[in-house]
Parts: sequence; C-alpha cells; structure tokens
Amino acid sequence: LLSIKGLAKSFGDLEVLKNIDVEIEKGKVLSIMGPSGSGKTTMLRCLNGLEQPDKGIFTFDDGLTLNFENKINKQEALKLRRKAGMVFQSYNLFPHKTALENVTEGPIIVQKRNKNEVNQMAEGLLEKVGLKDKMHLYPHQLSGGQQQRVGIARALAIEPDLMLFDEPTSALDPELIGEVLTVIRDLAKENWTMAIVTHEVQFASQVSDEVIFMDDGYIVEQGPPEEILKAPKEKRTQQFLDRIL
Ligand code: ATP
Repeated sequence: LLSIKGLAKSFGDLEVLKNIDVEIEKGKVLSIMGPSGSGKTTMLRCLNGLEQPDKGIFTFDDGLTLNFENKINKQEALKLRRKAGMVFQSYNLFPHKTALENVTEGPIIVQKRNKNEVNQMAEGLLEKVGLKDKMHLYPHQLSGGQQQRVGIARALAIEPDLMLFDEPTSALDPELIGEVLTVIRDLAKENWTMAIVTHEVQFASQVSDEVIFMDDGYIVEQGPPEEILKAPKEKRTQQFLDRIL
C-alpha cells in the first residue's frame, strides 16, 4: 500500500529518524516496537502528515508519490492526511462534543460530506466498537477504554486506507486494555492495513504480520513476530524484550 524510502527527520540538532526504509503492505499489520525516544511516534506522525519529514519518498499503490526533498504543497499534504486515520495515546477527543459528534466532525467539517449519511455511518462505527448506547455521552462521561474506542471510530470515519495507532493502550488501566485490543484485533480480521506502536508483546505477536524494532532513529531489526519477538538476532532487541517481558 505504501513504500517509504530514506525517511529522515530532525528536531534541531536531534536526528530522530535516520534513513528509514519500510514497506506497509495492504491488508497487513505492522507493529513498531522500541525504547522510549527511539522515534516511533515521530515516524507515525510523518506517515499521516502531522510532521513534515526532512527527507524521504512515500509511494502509495494508487500512484501518489511524495518526495519530501522538495517541499510538498498543501494539496499533497491534505491527500496524505486523508490516507491515514490516527489513534492517539491520549485519545485526543474534543471534550465539548459527544461521542457521535467526535466521530462525525472530520467527515462533515473537513471532508464536507452529507450530514445525514455521515451520522448514519458514525452510528454504525460506534456500534462496531460496542458504544451505540453511549453515543450521546461526552468524553468525561466515558471510561478511558470507551474514549479510546470512540477514538478508533473517529479514525475509521474518514475512510482511510491505513490505520495508525500510537500506543493506543498505554494510558489505560490494565482492566480496560483488553476491550481496546479486541477492537484492533477485529479490524485486523477485517484486513485493515495498520501500523501499531505498542509495548504489548503478546498482543503484537498475535496480531502482527511484521514487526519492526527501532532504536535511536534506526530500524534495528524487522521480520515476522515469531522471529523478532521470540528469537531476535540483534542484541538491542533481546535486551529490550528482556526488560519489558
Ligand atoms: P515514546 O515511546 O516515549 O513515545 P518514541 O519512540 O515514540 O518514544 P518520539 O516521540 O518519536 O519517540 O521522540 C523521539 C525523540 O524526538 C525524543 O527525544 C523526543 O524528545 C524528540 N521529539 C519528538 N517530538 C519533538 C518536537 N516536536 N520537538 C523537539 N523534539 C521532539
């Protein structure tokens, strides 16, 4: 679905991503693991245009090609933004909008789609994440797990080609993690293309087709979960897994 070559991003003198090559295959789940500060979030933010890479070429299977060596124009940036739905660590819902309004905001305000159609679709998406009965509640009336499920429905509502998850369960109490992972597993079964930053090793090994281990702005190791998570070749991957398991 998307091929990335030579992705690089610095903040001032800090090189956060150093020449990353990665393929995101249609219908597959890519998990991104690695220590804090290794560049995982920055990579996801580059993928949906929240951050502008310094370098890199993105080639989508529909022909859209973005070369960040040249500054991309607004129209291209918008196209990139619409390719990917992003689910954030801290949900990022609008506090003064109901669950339903949070889901319909993007399609109605940004994509200017028909209000009735969008409302119907959004109700369907909230049903899919198990929240049809809560759709008129505000974020503060929902648990963290429920808020994150609204976040997932909101990302799906823009009808993206690709879903991006940035540590979607790391802000949740342990007993609420399962309900969010179940929704993500269901999306994997429906063959959504997804890139997921996660520290949940067991979940990653069940749901992923491919795992990337990042450290210090590089991809240290990449392969199927049974290789990277059970028998990593690189010492840095082994050390990281020993620490978190
Ligand atoms: P974590 O697991 O803690 O979320 P991460 O692997 O996702 O870490 P990033 O959030 O991508 O790492 O951050 C990588 C580095 O880039 C960090 O040192 C961070 O401080 C720095 N960084 C990220 N965003 C910015 C920014 N907007 N301005 C300056 N530095 C930034």
